[in-house]
Amino acid sequence: MLTAESLTPYLSALADLFFPQRCVGCERRASDLLCLGCFEALPRVGRPVCARCGAPTAFETKACDTCKGVDFGFESARAPLRYEGVGEEIVHSLKYRGYTRVVGRLAAPLMAAVLDRGERFDAVVPVPLHRSRLRRRGFNQAELLARGVAAAINAPVSDTLHVVRKTRDQVELSAAERRANVEGAYAVRGVARGRVLLVDDVFTTGATTSSCAATLLRAGADEVHAISLCRTC
Ligand SMILES: [Zn+2]
Ligand SMILES: [Zn+2]
Repeated sequence: MLTAESLTPYLSALADLFFPQRCVGCERRASDLLCLGCFEALPRVGRPVCARCGAPTAFETKACDTCKGVDFGFESARAPLRYEGVGEEIVHSLKYRGYTRVVGRLAAPLMAAVLDRGERFDAVVPVPLHRSRLRRRGFNQAELLARGVAAAINAPVSDTLHVVRKTRDQVELSAAERRANVEGAYAVRGVARGRVLLVDDVFTTGATTSSCAATLLRAGADEVHAISLCRTC
């Protein structure tokens, strides 16, 4: 006899056929990486942003109040999403669940879209992971994002940057402590050249990005621009 219970496995198999995966944002079955609700709930940074640090601002500005006196190694930083809600879920799905499909389908196109149209880069460089972290995780999420962005803007990836000194987890540290923590932590193999696009998953105070950018400049890069999938403010 057909009952609701006896049909459940068939309905579930049918759902698998039409909705083969779960939404990265809410884990409900979806026909794509994000359900429509989560797509609409993407915490977009929007415009205008500070031309320098990429923070959302009320008006177009070359340097906002927060970054005016700060000495960054990079020329500009951009991110399409805020690190909250669905934005945070996307980073977690990649970083902790190894869900690499989010890069090509979602993260890289979002990131490429916040770069100025027609902007050319000589190299796309991922923020490196220390080898012990790399061993534990098995991959560097920044490198996967860098490959996705490089493909989207048709530029070469360069894994020239590496970690020479292990740093503490930045989460508990103040802005000044973060800068001291990452000072001299990176080095370049060989030389860097031209305009470099530095890629990371999350931009917080800019300490890591800044230290990486300064290292690239010392190694010969002309200028460094930074892009991350999310930013914390
Ligand atoms: Zn969803
Ligand atoms: Zn700013």
